[in-house]
Amino acid sequence: MKIPFNRPFIAGKELFYISQAVLEGRLAGDGRFTKNCQKWIEENLKCKKVLLTHSCTAALEMAAVLSEIDAGDEVIMPSFTFVSTANAFVMRGGKPVFVDIRSDTLNIDENIIEAAITEKTKVIVPVHYAGEPCEMEKISELAKKHKLLVIEDAAQGMFAGYKGRFLGTIGDIGCLSFHETKNVISGEGGAILINNDSLIERAEIIREKGTNRSKFFRGQVDKYTWIDVGSSYLPSELIGAFLFAQLENSEKVTAERVRIYNKYYDMLKPLEEKGYIRLPYSRNSSNGHIFYILTESLEERTELISFLKEQDILAVFHYVPLHSSPAGRKFGRVHGEMVNTDNAGNKLLRLPLFYEITDEMIEKVADSVFAFYRKYTKVR
Ligand SMILES: *Cc1c(COP(=O)(O)O)cnc(C)c1O
Repeated sequence: MKIPFNRPFIAGKELFYISQAVLEGRLAGDGRFTKNCQKWIEENLKCKKVLLTHSCTAALEMAAVLSEIDAGDEVIMPSFTFVSTANAFVMRGGKPVFVDIRSDTLNIDENIIEAAITEKTKVIVPVHYAGEPCEMEKISELAKKHKLLVIEDAAQGMFAGYKGRFLGTIGDIGCLSFHETKNVISGEGGAILINNDSLIERAEIIREKGTNRSKFFRGQVDKYTWIDVGSSYLPSELIGAFLFAQLENSEKVTAERVRIYNKYYDMLKPLEEKGYIRLPYSRNSSNGHIFYILTESLEERTELISFLKEQDILAVFHYVPLHSSPAGRKFGRVHGEMVNTDNAGNKLLRLPLFYEITDEMIEKVADSVFAFYRKYTKVR
């Protein structure tokens, strides 16, 4: 029994909707499936304006344009994140300022942010790691005090919440991902959530190659023309059709991922109690996006990965902290110590977690982790 790390899945009418889109003769973006997805997300996440994009990376790039980043402007973010969080701003000439994460949630440490703010700071980017919410109250307060924008990287935060609100709907802008490794998928895919009214009109323009095409189609202007910078950030209807079926089934999918998360948690708890590993911060994940364990050291993690591989189990780690990557060193700067970031970068291991993983597979993974520690502690 081979256990992959991730496996994309069909949750309902994906293929039927794709064939409908084809038969209706609408393959370009912003047809009825794209609009249905946007409306669905607006209603279910309680959000003012949602625009589908072809990735979360694209949503972050749009957010960087919307925040009017100029050369040298600083953007405060964690270093323990995916490259797109930083790249989107670097492409506009911005400078990522990396601050450490908290040792418990692995999210940006809200208590260091203020000291990292300078005259040049324009944006704070909280990344909700594994769907665990950042301390948005404190972050929003700081942003208000220093007149900064808050752009949530909620790529992993679909349906996770913070104080009664959904992640991605709290900052000025939120960015979601529907990449095949996320909870709700469309292969590649994403959405930008615009929670600040003053940014909505410009967001539509940037997404439509810098034109007022959206306004034209609504009959609000009589000419469709180039009026601002922009690019092609909208996905094809085929993506919208696939995604709509996923959204319709997203409650069931999320509940199943949470069940898998809880099963891992319960099975591995004894190893944490004996002091061998650390389990994720939350006993109850709100969206079951990632299940990770923290090992004692980089060497131990490397050995555990090969041990699992021998049992046909693919477990993976991320991230190489951005502040220590070649591009991160070139384009960004570090504020303060990076102890917790380096720790997570060296010791975190993600276990297989996907919608169709079976109980038998979960048990094999957990048993294998146990077997490793029985063996490992003996040889140590
Ligand atoms: C997956 C991910 C992204 C990028 O999403 P894409 O849709 O693949 O562009 C950005 N940030 C974080 C934190 C992610 O996990």
